[in-house]
Amino acid sequence: MEWEGPPKQGLYDPQNEHEACGVGFVVAIDGKRTHKIVRDAETLAKRMEHRGACACDNDTGDGAGVLTAIPHQFYCAQLRDSHQIDLPPFGKYATGIFFLDKLHHQDIEAKFKELAEGLGLRVLCWRTVPTNNSTIGQVARNSEPYMRQVFVTGDFDDELHLSRQIFVLRKRATHELVVPGARFYICSLSLKTVVYKGLLTSNQLWEYFKDLCNPAFTTYLALVHTRFSTNTFPSWERAHPLRVLAHNGEINTLRGNVNLMKAREGVMKSNSFGDDLKKLYPVVEPNLSDSGSADCVLEFLLHCGNRTLPEAVMTMVPEAWHNDQTMVKEKRDYYMWASCAMEPWDGPALISFTDGRYIGAILDRNGLRPSRFYVTNENVLVMASEVGVYDVDPEKVILKSRLKPGRMLLVDTEDKRIIQDVELKMEIARSRPHSQWLQEKITLEDIHKSIPQQNGSLNGSLHEPISGLSDKRLGLFGYTIESINMLLLPMIQNKKEALGSMGNDAPLACLSQFQPLPYEYFKQLFAQVTNPPIDPFREKIVMSLMCPIGPTANILEPSADFVHRLFLPQPILSIPDCEALKKSNFRGWKTKQWLAYQLIVLSERSAGPTRVPVSSLLSLGAVHHHLIETRQRMKVGIIVETAEAREVHHMCVLLGYGADAICPYLAFELAFSLRNDNIIDPTLTDLDIYTAYQKAIETGLAKVMAKMGISTLQSYKSAQIFEAVGMSEEVVDKCFRGTQSRIGGVTFEILSKEIFDRHALTYGDCTDMLALTMGLNPGYYHWRAGGEKHINDPMSIANLQEAATNKSQSGYDRFKESALESVRACTLRGQLELVKLDEPIPISEVETASEIVKRFATGAMSFGSISLEAHSTLAVAMNRIGGKSNTGEGGENADRYLNQDPEFNRRSAIKQVASGRFGVTASYLAHADDLQIKMAQGAKPGEGGELPGYKVTEDIARTRCSVAGVGLISPPPHHDIYSIEDLAELIYDLKCANPRARISVKLVSEVGVGVVASGVAKGKAEHIVISGHDGGTGASSWTGIKSAGLPWELGIAETHQVLVLNDLRSRVVVQADGQIRTGFDVMVAALLGADEFGFSTAPLIALGCTMMRKCHLNTCPVGIATQDPVLRKKFAGKPEHVINYLFMLAEEVREHMAAVGVRRFQELIGRTDLLKVRENNDNHKARALNLSLILKNALHMRPGVNIVGGSKSQDFQLEKRLDNQIIQQCAGILDGTQKHVDISMKITNEDRAFTSTFSYHIAMKYSDHGLPDGTTVNISLTGSAGQSFCAFLSKGVTVTLEGDSNDYVGKGLCGGTVIIYPPKNSPFESHLNVIVGNVCLYGATSGRAYFRGIASERFCVRNSGCVAVVEGVGDHGCEYMTGGTVLVLGLTGRNFAAGMSGGVAYVNDVDGSFKGKCNPEMVELLPLEKQDDLDIVKTLLEEFVEYTGSLIAKELLETWPEPAHKFVKVFPYEYQRALKQLALKQPSPPKLEANGKLEENGLVDIEEAVRDIEKDKKNLEKILDKTRGFIKYPRETSMYRPAEKRLRDWDEIYNFAHVRRGLRVQAARCMECGVPFCQSQHGCPLGNIIPKWNDLIYRADWKQALAHLLQTNNFPEFTGRVCPAPCEGACVLGISEPPVTIKNIECAIIDHAFDSGWIQPEIPTNRNGKTAAVVGSGPAGLACAHQLNKAGYTVTVFERNDRPGGLLQYGIPSMKLSKEVVARRIKLMAAEGISFKCNVDVGKDISGAELANEYDAVVLCMGATWPRDLPLKGRQLNGIHFAMEFLEGWQKKQAGPTQHHAKSTQHISAKDKNVLVIGGGDTGCDCIATSLRQGAKSITTFEILPEPKNSRGQDNPWPQWPRVFRVDYGHEEVKVKFGNDPRRFSTLTKEFLDDGEGNVCGVSAVEVEWTRGAGGRWDMKEIPGTNKVYKAELVLLAMGFLGPERYVANQLELPLDARSNVETAKDNIYKTPANNVFAAGDCRRGQSLVVWAISEGRQAARAVDVFLQGHSYLPGPGGVVHDH
Ligand code: SF4
Repeated sequence: MEWEGPPKQGLYDPQNEHEACGVGFVVAIDGKRTHKIVRDAETLAKRMEHRGACACDNDTGDGAGVLTAIPHQFYCAQLRDSHQIDLPPFGKYATGIFFLDKLHHQDIEAKFKELAEGLGLRVLCWRTVPTNNSTIGQVARNSEPYMRQVFVTGDFDDELHLSRQIFVLRKRATHELVVPGARFYICSLSLKTVVYKGLLTSNQLWEYFKDLCNPAFTTYLALVHTRFSTNTFPSWERAHPLRVLAHNGEINTLRGNVNLMKAREGVMKSNSFGDDLKKLYPVVEPNLSDSGSADCVLEFLLHCGNRTLPEAVMTMVPEAWHNDQTMVKEKRDYYMWASCAMEPWDGPALISFTDGRYIGAILDRNGLRPSRFYVTNENVLVMASEVGVYDVDPEKVILKSRLKPGRMLLVDTEDKRIIQDVELKMEIARSRPHSQWLQEKITLEDIHKSIPQQNGSLNGSLHEPISGLSDKRLGLFGYTIESINMLLLPMIQNKKEALGSMGNDAPLACLSQFQPLPYEYFKQLFAQVTNPPIDPFREKIVMSLMCPIGPTANILEPSADFVHRLFLPQPILSIPDCEALKKSNFRGWKTKQWLAYQLIVLSERSAGPTRVPVSSLLSLGAVHHHLIETRQRMKVGIIVETAEAREVHHMCVLLGYGADAICPYLAFELAFSLRNDNIIDPTLTDLDIYTAYQKAIETGLAKVMAKMGISTLQSYKSAQIFEAVGMSEEVVDKCFRGTQSRIGGVTFEILSKEIFDRHALTYGDCTDMLALTMGLNPGYYHWRAGGEKHINDPMSIANLQEAATNKSQSGYDRFKESALESVRACTLRGQLELVKLDEPIPISEVETASEIVKRFATGAMSFGSISLEAHSTLAVAMNRIGGKSNTGEGGENADRYLNQDPEFNRRSAIKQVASGRFGVTASYLAHADDLQIKMAQGAKPGEGGELPGYKVTEDIARTRCSVAGVGLISPPPHHDIYSIEDLAELIYDLKCANPRARISVKLVSEVGVGVVASGVAKGKAEHIVISGHDGGTGASSWTGIKSAGLPWELGIAETHQVLVLNDLRSRVVVQADGQIRTGFDVMVAALLGADEFGFSTAPLIALGCTMMRKCHLNTCPVGIATQDPVLRKKFAGKPEHVINYLFMLAEEVREHMAAVGVRRFQELIGRTDLLKVRENNDNHKARALNLSLILKNALHMRPGVNIVGGSKSQDFQLEKRLDNQIIQQCAGILDGTQKHVDISMKITNEDRAFTSTFSYHIAMKYSDHGLPDGTTVNISLTGSAGQSFCAFLSKGVTVTLEGDSNDYVGKGLCGGTVIIYPPKNSPFESHLNVIVGNVCLYGATSGRAYFRGIASERFCVRNSGCVAVVEGVGDHGCEYMTGGTVLVLGLTGRNFAAGMSGGVAYVNDVDGSFKGKCNPEMVELLPLEKQDDLDIVKTLLEEFVEYTGSLIAKELLETWPEPAHKFVKVFPYEYQRALKQLALKQPSPPKLEANGKLEENGLVDIEEAVRDIEKDKKNLEKILDKTRGFIKYPRETSMYRPAEKRLRDWDEIYNFAHVRRGLRVQAARCMECGVPFCQSQHGCPLGNIIPKWNDLIYRADWKQALAHLLQTNNFPEFTGRVCPAPCEGACVLGISEPPVTIKNIECAIIDHAFDSGWIQPEIPTNRNGKTAAVVGSGPAGLACAHQLNKAGYTVTVFERNDRPGGLLQYGIPSMKLSKEVVARRIKLMAAEGISFKCNVDVGKDISGAELANEYDAVVLCMGATWPRDLPLKGRQLNGIHFAMEFLEGWQKKQAGPTQHHAKSTQHISAKDKNVLVIGGGDTGCDCIATSLRQGAKSITTFEILPEPKNSRGQDNPWPQWPRVFRVDYGHEEVKVKFGNDPRRFSTLTKEFLDDGEGNVCGVSAVEVEWTRGAGGRWDMKEIPGTNKVYKAELVLLAMGFLGPERYVANQLELPLDARSNVETAKDNIYKTPANNVFAAGDCRRGQSLVVWAISEGRQAARAVDVFLQGHSYLPGPGGVVHDH
C-alpha cells in the first residue's frame, strides 16, 4: 500500500527506523482557552523547523503535529452547520481523527459504529477533516490518508466510566478493525484532547489543517512536535503527538520492554475491566515505533493502572534513584517499590504528555535532551527543545528554566498551577505506605538465614571435586588456556577485564571450525547517532545493576505484593547463593530445576561422561521465550547455573535473553582449584575470589549496557540487544525470537555436532587432561601456529612487508595469496568470489592505478596513538598519490598544514572531529578537505578512550591543546550528540566552520546502520564511513574488541541498499573501512556499494608494524605505536613503502576489473551481480550461510535511482547565514585594512553556529592566532540565539548577547570572547534562571565566556583552555576538562568534575552541598586560600561585573576576600602533578608496579600469580622490567664454554651454568608479540609457544613453562641443543636488535625438568589394541612413536644401527648432543612401552611388505641418508669420505660396543692430517670440530657460496632465515687453535690430487664469482688465475643428502618424487599410496632440520590415528587439538 513504507527487503528492515525531534508545548496555566495558544504553538513549531528533516524531495517533512484541548465551541459550531448536530457538553463525548482510505472508509466506519454500540457507546457523526494539501510534498501527497473525525458519546454517569469505555473502543477497534489493504489508524480518541498530525513539515501543518487556522479554534494547551526520522519512509501514522505523549529521543530498551509487557499480560487483573481486560491485549500494538509502544503502555496504565498520569510516567521513566544518596528516603522507597512494577523505559528522552488536565514533560535520568521553559506573568508556560521559539516581552517573563535530568514539569490546568517536581513526587511517594511495603522484599541474606544448616563450602565441595586445569569439564565447556589466562584470571586478580588492542582479526563464529560457544555468534549492539552511549565510569551515578527478580504481582493494583520479590544488587550468584536459593522456601518461595515454581534454575551440573549438555544459552532462550508466549514469564525468575558462561560477554548474552541471575560455578570452582595450585594468590578466600570476579563482571556489564546507552540492568535484561551473525532461523525462532539474524547459518544440527565433538574430545580416550586442555586452544585472541586463522598472520605480514619495502611483485603475489586464504577462513567476503568473464578485457582499457588510488584513504589513527614519524609518513605518502590521510582524533600541528612542501606534504586531508575534540580549533577545521565526525570506532564502538598522562608528551600536548603529562580522556561519542538532530547540528556547525570541506561521518557496522546512514545523509553529511568491527588500533576490553560491531560487508551492503531505497545515495560518498588489505577486498567492497576505501593496519604493516598488539604499552619496537624517543628512532618506514603497496594493490584491482569486464571503477559500485557465493567451499558452516541479502542489488529495490555518490550536493543554505553580513561588514578586518569594527544586530534561534564562518575566514588568514593584537570586532546582539552560538569563535572577536541562548554556546571556542546576560528589563533574578543550554563550551581550546545566569547540563565538558564565569551549572559540569579555568558563582548539578584531569574550577559553595555533588575520583577539593587563587577569582569577578552587570558578583566583590571561605577550588590530582613536573621540567615517568611491569589498566597474566610469592618478595630488589626488557637488556652472547677449554674435551660445548644465571633477563627481552613470528612458518616448524614459556621463565615458573613447551615439542632437549633456531631468525626483535635467545631457554627448561625429576615415564592407561611400526629412530621416528604410544598404540621402532637415535645418536657429535641425553630419552620411551628393535634393517632383514602385513600401520622415518657426492677426478682416492661416515664411525667408537652387538667399529681419524671439509652447514661444522678434537694438523673448509654479509641482503628480508655471516662453534675453535677461520668462501673444488699411492694428498680448487643474470638468477663464474692447491690427507664431503635409501620404497613399490623423496598424497600428506604405510621426516620432505623431523613425526602419528580410528585426540600443527 502506498501509505506503508517499503517492506523489509535486502538488508533493509523498517523496524530499524529511529527518530528525533523538536518538541514543545504552550499551556495557559489557568486553563483559559484562546486561539492565541494555537498561534503561539505554530510559531513554536516553525521555529524548530531545523530540528525536523525532509525526505529526498526536500518538501515532504518527516512528520509534524499538534495536540490541543478539544476546541469544543468550534466543533459545536462546525457540526451544527455541517451535520445539524448538537454536541453534548465538553467532557461528555470523545472525538478523534482517523486515517482511512476512501475505498474502505464507509465499511470501517460502519464496523466502528457497531463496535461502539456493543460497548454502550454511540457514534454521533463522522466529519471529513478539512485539509489543504497544496503545499505538501509529493511523497506525502502520494500517501495522504482520507481524514475522518468521529464524535462518540455514551450514557454513563461518570466521566471516568465513559473515558474507560472510549479507551476500550479505541483499543478494540485497533485490534479488530484492521484488515489487510484497508487503511485504519486512530490518531487519538479522547474526551479532552485531539491530535492533528501528518507527514508534514512544521510549516505545512498549520496550512494543511484548515481547522487550525480558524480563529474560533481555541484551546488552553497545545503540544507540538516536529519529527526527524532516520529514513525517508516516515508515515502519516508515525507522526507525533501520539495519544498521550510526544517524544523526543529514543528508547533503547524497547524490545525488552515490549516482551516483558507481553509477559505481564499473564499476571494482570483489573477490578474495573474484569474479563474485558484481555480484550485490550496486546497492550503494545504490533509494528509501532519506540514512542508508539511507550504511548500504548502509558495510555494503558492511565486507564487501567490506578495511577495518575504523572505517576504512570514516573513508573516508566524513573529518576536515577539507586545511587542518589541525597534523595529523600520516601521518594527512594517509592522508586524501589515502583521498580517492581516495571523496568525503566530507558534511553535519552524528553517526553511531553497530557491527558487534557495535566500537561507536563519529563527528562530521562541522564538529561540527554534539551528542554527549556519560560513562565510569563500572563500565566502561560512554554516548554520547548529550544528557547527563542515564543515571542514574549522580556518584562513579562518571570522564570526561565530547564528540565533537569529525571525531573518532571507539570501543569495542572484544573488546579491552575505549576506543580514542582519535588512536591509532585513527594505527594505520589506519600500516597501509599510504600516504605512499609518495602519490608516485604526478600534479600539473599533472608534466603541464607532461612536455610537451617548449610552444608558444603563455597568451593563447590557439594559436587564432584575439581582438578584444576585437568578438569574434564573445561574442555567440555570450551575453556581454553588462552581464555583462562587472558580473561578469567585477570578478572579475579584485578577485578576487571583485561585489555587488548589492534582489533579483532579472528574468524567469525559462523566460520570457525573450532566449536565456538553459541555466545560467540552474538554481536552486541551499541548506540550510534540516534542515541548516546553513557560513560559507565565517570557517569556511574546513573547506572545500576540492582534487580528485583521472581514472580511479579498484578501491576494494575498497587500493593505490597509488588515487593514480594528477591532483590539482587547484581546478577552474579556465588555457589552458596545458588545452593541456598535451590533449597529455600522462604515465605513460601520454592525453587526447582525445570519445574515452574517461583524460581527456575536451569543447570548443566549433570553434564558428564554420559550426558552431553545443551548450551545454557540455548536452553535459557527457549524457556524464556516459551514462558513469554504462554504469558507465564512474569510468574517466575530464571536462574542459570552454568559452567559454560564465564566471560563478560557470556553474562551479557544470558541477561539479554532473560536470565535473572547467573551462577557461573565452573569459573569459581576453577579459580578455587587454581588458588590451591598457587596459580592464584593462595591467601584469597572463596569470598575474595567471588567478589573479585563479580566486580569484574559488574564493571564489564555496566560497560556493555552503557555502550547501548542503557543505565539499568533491569532494562537491559531481556532487551535482546544483539544481532546473531550466522545463526539459522530455526535456532533464532526457538531461542532468540525477535533477534536479527540476516545471513542464516548454523542449525541445531551443527551446534549439537559441535558440542558432541567437544564431548567426545573431552571424554574420549585421551588421558592427559592437562595436555588436552592446553591443546584445545586454537588461539582465538592471539595467533598461534596450527590454530584459528587470523587475517594478520605472520606469512601475510612478512609478504606484505617484503612487497612494500622492495616493491616486489612476487612478494605482493605471495601476500595476495596468503591474505586470500585468511580472508576465506575469517570473513564473509571470503565466502564470495568474483564472476569473471571467460576472456578478460584488455587491461590497458581499464582505468589507471593512479586514478584508483585517489579513492584510498588511510584510517583514523591519531598522533598520540602512533608516533609523529609514522603519522607524517602516512600523510606524505597519501598526499603524493592523491589519496587522503586522516589526522585521527589527536589534532594536527599547524606547521604540518601551513608549510606544505610539495614532495613531503605532511598535511592530513581528513581532519577528524571526535568526542575528545583534541586540538579542534578554527584553524584545524579550516585547513581540512574532509571533516570527519567520528561517531564510533571499529575496535570499540560505543566506547571512549584514554591517552594516559605518560604518553602525553609536550608535542602531543601542544597538538591537543593540553598540558604534557595530563591524561586525556575521550568521552564515549559524542557529548554533544545525543540524537540524529544533534548530529545534524554538528554537521551544520562544521560546514559553517569550513564551507569548503566535505563533511564526513564515521559509523560502525551494526544492524540498522543503513537506516542510521540514511538519517545521517538527511542530516546533510556528504560522506559516510562504514567501519567494520574488526579494525582499529585502540586498546579496549576484549569484550568490546571481540563482541561488538559487525563485518563491514553487512554494513556497506545495508547502507548502500537503504540509501538507494531512500534515493539518498547520490548525496553521499560511502567509504568502507576495516581490515581491507588486498585488491579483492576493495573489489568486494565496491561491488557491495562502497566508493572509497580506508586502510589502517595494512599501511602500518607496510611501514614496519608487526602486529605486536602492544600499542597501549608505548613499547612498539618498530617505532610506530609509541611516543618513546628511543623507540621512535627505530622507525624505518618510508612513504614509498605505502605508495608501493597501494599501487600494487590498485594494479590487482585493475586485474580483477579486467577479469569481470569493467573498465571504469565507478561502474563497479553496487554491482552485486559480479559477486557470487564461492563454490566448493570446504567449510560446512560457511555452506550453511545465506548471503543473498548482502548480494541483493539495490537498484532492483528502487530502479532508476542515481547512485553516483556525491553527484548531488547537499543544500546547507549557507547563503542565508547571518554570518554573511558579519563577513561583509568585516571585509576590512579580513584583508587587514581595518582595525576595529562594531556591529549591532538581532538574532533568533534559527541563526545557528553564529560566527563560525566568520571564524573560518579569520583562521584562513591568521590561522589559530586569531586577529592580530590591536584588531578587534565587537558584535552586540539581542534575542535568543540559535544552537552553537559562537562555535569556534576566533581571538579578537567579542560577541555580547542580551537575551539567552540554546545548546552548545561557545563549542570549540578558540580565543574569542562570548558574553551573555538577560535582557536588562527582565524582572527575574539572573542566578536563578537559565541563560544558556546544554553542553556549552564543549571542547573549547581558548577564549573567555561570561554567562550571567545558569548554564544547563554538561558545562565546559572537555574544555582545554577557555576561561568561563557562570552563575550556576547543571549536572556533569567540567566533565573531562583538561585545561582552562571555570568560576561558578552558584549551585552546581551532580557529578561535577567527573573525569576532570586538568584545569581548575572555583565554585561558590553557597549551600554547602557541593562536596556531595562533586565526583571526587580525579580531583582534590581545596579551600580558596592562596593569594594567587584569590587574585584570579577577584579579577574574574570584576570582569564579570563589568561585562554582564552580575549582581551576585558585585555582592561578592563588595566584601572580597571575606566570601572566599565559601569557595572551593577543584584541582585535579593529575594536573597538580603535571604542573609540578612542568616546573621541574622533567617528563613524567611511566608508572611502575612493584614487579616492574607497566601498569596497563591492571592487565596481568595468569603466570604473574604463578610464582613463589615468598621468594618473589625477597627478589623485589632484583626486579626485571619485562615491558621494556627488550630495550634495556642486551642479548647474552656467550652461550658456549670458552673455546680454548672445550676443544680439549668431548663434553657438551654449552655453558649451562652461565646461561641459566642470565636466563630470566633473556626471557625478559621477549616482547610477547601479538603475532609471534618466532612460532610462525618462518620460525619454529613445531609452532612452539615461545612467548608463553619465555614469560613463564621470566616469572620463574619452570613447571608451567615446561607444560607449555611440551605441548608442541616432544624432545626439547634435542632441539634446544642442535636446532639452528629459525625461531630466533624470525623473532620480531631481530628487526632492529639481536633477537631473543630462545633456544637456550628451551634447553634450560627441559634440562631443569629432568634434573628436578619432573620427567617421568607416562605410560598410557589404555591401549587400543592396534600396532604400529616405525622404521627409523631418528627425530621423526622417535616423535612419531612417542605420539602414537600416547594415543594407546603398541609401537615398535626399527633401527638398522646398533643403537636407537639415528642421526641423534651417531650423526651429531657428542659435544653438541651428549649421548647420555639421547639415551635418557630412549630409556624413558622404552619405559613408556615403546619397543626398540635395533640392528634390523627394514628392507633387508625384514621386508617392508611383511611389516605392513604384520602391523596395523607402518610409518617410514628413514631419514635422508643418501649423501651427495662430488664425482670429480680423483674421487676414488683413499682418504675421501662422506661426512656421515666420518662422524658415525667416530661416535660409534666413542660409544663403544653395545650389549647385544659387540662388533668393534672402524673409524676414520683426522689425527695429524690436513683435513679438508667440502660443504658448509651444520654437518660441515661438526666435521671441523670432530677433526679438531681428534688432533688434525690443519682444517680447511670450502664453501661454494660467497661469504655472507654481516646484515641481511635485500633479497633476504626478515622474517626469513637470515643469511648473514656467522661463526659457529667449530669455526671459533679452529680460529683459537690455528689462528684463522677455516672457511674459504666462493671456492670450487676442481680435482682431488693423488699422492701417487692411491691416497688423496690435496685438492685443486678455484675461486668463483657470483653474478645475477637475466631473470634474477645467480650465475657462477670461475675467476681466472685463482687456481690453488690445498693440502689434504683427509677430505670430508659434507654437501648434504639426496633423499632416502631406496630399498624400502622399492619393496613397497612406493613412488618417489622429483627430489627422490617418498611421495605422499596431496590432501593427506603423510600417507603413501600403500594401504597402511605412512612416511614422515627427511625421507618424505627431504633433508631438513631436526625440528622439522619432529614436527613431521608428530603429524604423521596423528594421520595414522585418524586413519585407524577415524578421529584423533593427538594435537595437530602447533600443538592444537581439533577434530577437523
Ligand atoms: S621470541 Fe621474539 S618473536 Fe617470539 S614473541 Fe618473543 S619477541 Fe616476539
